[in-house]
Amino acid sequence: MNEMQTLSDHADQMDFDLGPIDKQDDLRYHPDLDGDTLREECGVFGVYGHPEAAAITALGLHALQHRGQEAAGIVSFDGSRFHSERRLGLVGDAFSRREVIERLPGNASVGHVRYSTTGGTILRNVQPLFAELSAGGFAVGHNGNLTNGLTLRRELVKGGAMMQSTTDTEVILHLVAQSKRSRFVDRFIEALRAIEGAYALVALTNKKLIGARDPLGIRPLVLGDLDGRPILTSETCALDMIGARYVRDIEPGEIIVFDEAGAHSHKPFPPKPPRPCIFEYIYFARPDSIVGGRSVYDVRKAFGAQLARESHPEVDVVVPVPDSGVPAAVGYSQFSGVPFELGIIRNHYVGRTFIQPTQSVRELGVRMKHSANRAAIEGKRIILIDDSLVRGTTSKKIVRMMRDAGAREVHFRLASPPILYPDYYGIDLPDRGGLLAATQTLEEMRETIGADSLAFLSIDGMYRAMGYPGRDPANPKFSDHCFTGVYPTHLTDQSEVEPQPRQLSLLAEAS
Ligand code: SF4
Repeated sequence: MNEMQTLSDHADQMDFDLGPIDKQDDLRYHPDLDGDTLREECGVFGVYGHPEAAAITALGLHALQHRGQEAAGIVSFDGSRFHSERRLGLVGDAFSRREVIERLPGNASVGHVRYSTTGGTILRNVQPLFAELSAGGFAVGHNGNLTNGLTLRRELVKGGAMMQSTTDTEVILHLVAQSKRSRFVDRFIEALRAIEGAYALVALTNKKLIGARDPLGIRPLVLGDLDGRPILTSETCALDMIGARYVRDIEPGEIIVFDEAGAHSHKPFPPKPPRPCIFEYIYFARPDSIVGGRSVYDVRKAFGAQLARESHPEVDVVVPVPDSGVPAAVGYSQFSGVPFELGIIRNHYVGRTFIQPTQSVRELGVRMKHSANRAAIEGKRIILIDDSLVRGTTSKKIVRMMRDAGAREVHFRLASPPILYPDYYGIDLPDRGGLLAATQTLEEMRETIGADSLAFLSIDGMYRAMGYPGRDPANPKFSDHCFTGVYPTHLTDQSEVEPQPRQLSLLAEAS
């Protein structure tokens, strides 16, 4: 399939069933989640006016692969037609062949790497989504999750809309299609007024490349310049990948439009204090990215140093849980003066454990992914540093692996606070019942993972590491609700939200 037709024309290539939405595809349910870390949301990329738009987009998506490994897609426009290539799997598998890129002519394109938070891993959910509207073709790629997506979808279906995918993103297409405004950008803004939640969007029409960020700026979106051509993408690491210059962040609530006349910025929403997702710093973003003007690597090192400041047992070596625990472990070692050792070796050819389909493979996956470096830890008192703890399954296996390899003591530290609440903004966190910290005391968690001691970075410590005196409940500066339960937007689809849990007791060190 190459030349873009309307969504329904592709039906013969998709396993369509327009039956009622089953639980699997509902916003609130991901029954197969049992990994021990967060699942990233997605990554977006867009370029305008570049003769090799699709090739540049494929490279950019490659740099964003850590934000989603399930599927990837690119839509390009060649001045008269749209072209689309969407695949399940990794960017390198989908877009490394020349003939695939050659099927995406044009000097403008948008791309998306996907990890499903809403809607299953099926081709019809692969983005960018495309539809032929009265104003012409429209492609959109979304990073984040709409907290009223289900409600809007039901209203649209009741109104006769025919949904082609089970993603929340598709409601944006239908809202734009149903707008009575004349100018495209006004139709797009009207659609954004109706949605709630987190979004970083890239969109393509026959005349424009559009970028948009939700009014709180929960998900990141940056602007770059490649030989005078604008680039929109989730992270600066994608700009580095293609040799583009970083220009600025797209501001919260901003819609930026690029066309032949140049760049046009719109700020249609009432200004609000920004609440970018703090987990981008803790885990999601690549360490070499600059997010919100901060080096992700430096922030993670600062989390590690603050962790050492808050709780430091007598140990011989600092051992990171690779890769995401490495910067914090460097910071911990530099602050505490305890030597840093690669006590765990990561096999980089396994891919992210929690993306594996079955539990048994996932069990194996942990051993396939990590192995103990006996020379660095045998007979030693070690402290393991990881970025976060969700269910504790991987942490438990790693502690056991260190003991099996001869470690005398195994202390465990997390460079983020305990995760107590589910996320509704594009992160695949389990419900509260699946969160170890929401169901066990610190001492119970220590016993569960089998460590000699366990501690988490405090919430105030996390903010201090970011350069603030602590968390200001009146204006918390970041989205941090998986730790605090304070959600930055109304949660239309999730009518009942659990009350504030017992927080403070979990931050005391268990030993
Ligand atoms: S719950 Fe909030 S802070 Fe946590 S990952 Fe989601 S958006 Fe980020």
